[in-house]
Amino acid sequence: SAPVLTIDGPGGAGKGTISRLIAERLGWHLLDSGSLYRLTALSAIGKGIALDDEPALAALASALDVVFRAENGEAVVELEGRDVTREIRTEQVGNSASLVAALPAVRQALLERQRDFRQAPGLVADGRDMGTVVFVDAPLKIFLTASAEERARRRHLQLREAGVDASLSSLLKEIQARDDRDTQRSVAPLVPADDAIELDTTRLSIPEVVDRLSELLSR
Ligand code: C5P
Repeated sequence: SAPVLTIDGPGGAGKGTISRLIAERLGWHLLDSGSLYRLTALSAIGKGIALDDEPALAALASALDVVFRAENGEAVVELEGRDVTREIRTEQVGNSASLVAALPAVRQALLERQRDFRQAPGLVADGRDMGTVVFVDAPLKIFLTASAEERARRRHLQLREAGVDASLSSLLKEIQARDDRDTQRSVAPLVPADDAIELDTTRLSIPEVVDRLSELLSR
């Protein structure tokens, strides 16, 4: 089957940007697995389903009506025919996503959908458990990290560019709370795969990280 590069790590380490750039450079498909948990959460909120109703959330996750497409080179996400590209990126949806992601039945419901992204010529898979659960046999696994302070700072800049003025200390608290939830949950906790290469991006620029990964890929 097609080769997979897995890029796992905590939120805000730069996985999204790096994965997209590497996928573009290689001409490979891209799986943003976090978006599936975000879409499940957004859909649940819209339908008034409680974020701890595991059977209902699992049913929702397996029936998600989602389209990922590119429009003028930009990734667009549609849920039930509605453009939700921006909506799924909010802090509220991200926090809700980490709640539904802690439910085993939800993770199970999204498993095959994620594996379906593995198509020729290859796949870059971005998430928390790409190398430990979803694509265990991937030939190259990366675990991308950065200090919580640096991740909060990056998020702060990103929000400011979008015209949102969030406090750095509250962002840091949210990041730490999300880290705790992702690393302490009982299913697919956030840990590097045994065969993952860890890369700390705290002091690296985006081009530096892309170069380092390209070098690892060409080995
Ligand atoms: O990466 P992103 O911030 O979009 O992910 C949102 C949430 O979805 C994460 O906080 C995490 O709880 C969950 N997630 C997961 N497994 C993945 C990707 C995301 O549990 N593979």
